[in-house]
Amino acid sequence: MPELPEVESLTGFLRERAVGRTVLGVDVVAIQALKTFDPPVTALGGLTVTGVSRHGKFIDIDCDGLHLVIHLARAGWLRWRDDLSAAKPVRPGKGPLAVRVRLAPDEEGLAPGFELTEAGTQKRLAVYVTKNPDDIPGVASLGPDPLDESFTVDALKRIVGGNRTQIKGLLRDQKIIAGIGNAYSDEVLHAAKMSPFKISATLTDAQIADLHEAIVTTLRDAVERAHGLAAKDLKAEKKSGLRVHNRAGQPCDVCGDTIREVSFADSALQYCPTCQTGGKPLADRRLSRLLK
Ligand SMILES: [Zn+2]
Repeated sequence: MPELPEVESLTGFLRERAVGRTVLGVDVVAIQALKTFDPPVTALGGLTVTGVSRHGKFIDIDCDGLHLVIHLARAGWLRWRDDLSAAKPVRPGKGPLAVRVRLAPDEEGLAPGFELTEAGTQKRLAVYVTKNPDDIPGVASLGPDPLDESFTVDALKRIVGGNRTQIKGLLRDQKIIAGIGNAYSDEVLHAAKMSPFKISATLTDAQIADLHEAIVTTLRDAVERAHGLAAKDLKAEKKSGLRVHNRAGQPCDVCGDTIREVSFADSALQYCPTCQTGGKPLADRRLSRLLK
């Protein structure tokens, strides 16, 4: 799933290529992906892309004040195409193509654009056409962005104070902090040497400062690594940069212990026992519940 660093990179990638170009048309192939009907997608035709920005994991393409907002969800991706003039007309079907955005040809006659694709059978990719991105509930309810300068140690202290949830759940809650998902929450907690099951409100001031440092450093490093990469190369870069996420059974880079996995909410998390939980593996609560 693309998280803040990948979405930040895709946003920059699109900004460089699309700003200043006229939208020829937006073809919605997967009709369930379109979450708004007024204004219609056809209203984007003829408008010029004036800006591309990010809200949490949402990409916001401003076309003369009308916004095409994209959420790639778990299995969605964005694919840039240098020339769509020879592309086959889109047809609803079972393939991964969900939306195609066609841009006007340049002086060389190439008609670029981009496609939103979604792998798998669970279709969660979402696109919105709106005059005001804050009308989208998922955007309006976003917590602070961890790359914004207002996200200080004190801001994080206010967030965790009094919160009785486990820190892993808090980090990936978009309403609390925007942009972090399952992968980077594992990475942040490994960098902070903190148990994912720790109750947020029990963090000491020193631990909050360490966690803040881990959040900002982990995300900035990932943004830095992803910077300038083509959209197609981002997935491989994300995978190679992760130290614990999806690496169960492999040795920890820091201490050499074996990275473990435990179920969490609707998925699983990975962590290093030596770095994060005093050497003790976490009990798999789902499994122990089944055994009772
Ligand atoms: Zn370790």
